[in-house]
Amino acid sequence: MRVVVLVGGVGGARFLLGVKSALGLPAVGAAEGESKQEVVAVVNTGDDVWMHGLRVCPDLDTCMYTLGGGIDVGRGWGRAGETWTVKEELAAYGAEPTWFGLGDRDVATHLVRSRMLRAGYPLSAVTEALCTRWRPGVRLLPATDDRSETHVVVDDPDSGERRAIHFQEWWVRHRAGLPAHAIVPVGADEAKPAPGVAEALAAADVVVLAPSNPVVSVGTILAVPGIRQAIRQTPAKVVGISPIIAGRPLRGMADACLAAIGVETTAEAVGRHYGSRGEGGVLDGWLVHTGDTADVPGVAVRAVPLLMSDVDATAAMARAAFELAGVSVG
Ligand code: GDP
Ligand code: CA
Repeated sequence: MRVVVLVGGVGGARFLLGVKSALGLPAVGAAEGESKQEVVAVVNTGDDVWMHGLRVCPDLDTCMYTLGGGIDVGRGWGRAGETWTVKEELAAYGAEPTWFGLGDRDVATHLVRSRMLRAGYPLSAVTEALCTRWRPGVRLLPATDDRSETHVVVDDPDSGERRAIHFQEWWVRHRAGLPAHAIVPVGADEAKPAPGVAEALAAADVVVLAPSNPVVSVGTILAVPGIRQAIRQTPAKVVGISPIIAGRPLRGMADACLAAIGVETTAEAVGRHYGSRGEGGVLDGWLVHTGDTADVPGVAVRAVPLLMSDVDATAAMARAAFELAGVSVG
């Protein structure tokens, strides 16, 4: 069975643990020997940013650390057992920005990545190299090797002037508290899918949209025209999982992102925003949480428990997605 999952960071990584488990793979780490099950994760790169001369890829790293057993489980991002000496030393120099958490262990990942990028390797090759250490047990593919960077249009709190800031500045520094007039995946129009992405989608038995942020995680991936087209054309069924439960995002501030693009924070509105493949959208099926309802024209909707409280509960979500797609795990 070949499963392709579109993911962001924390929500996406957690969901991948469940996908692996549902397929009989170890949730963390790689299976020993050959497996008939193949999971490809197409990971959002819109959050990526240069910080202090280092290339940081938050969603790729969250997936890599979570699936490779290196994540700080409580925080959901960054390395377990992290220390912050580099961050303190940078602050002592007054080196801006000071609001971004660069952990000491994490810095090593960014150093290796930045060095390879500067030597000319594309992000997809760099990611593959980093994964030889972490052995995440799924193929982690950046959505694109090209520049596609999420920017948020806000009123500057100091000058009052309208300007675009990097997504990280809005999300981390301002905690998504500055009202967003627009969220723009800058460069996505011209970006091409990274090597392997379109091929994986074409060869998939099932495609799943993780319960990741529909605007700045899944939305940014779908903003790459070649990816959207590959999803529209794949013979596999495409099933999405709602990150919105009872009108609220589970963690994070997805409601602020949805408001910026004029979509209500409900499972139904997000399902309609993705839309049916029959009508120019990307979905064949849509899973909502037990108790929620959604009418999405042209899309099969099921209500099942969608709380990723542990790996077993998350695996049940993945199985529900496979079932709705009509594929059986053998
Ligand atoms: P980020 O890149 O780290 O922000 O993570 P993602 O975009 O992958 O995931 C964030 C989304 O995950 C948020 O919109 C949450 O609503 C959603 N989420 C987190 N935990 C759960 C859960 O247990 N169930 C569901 N259905 N969604 C969740
Ligand atoms: Ca993210």
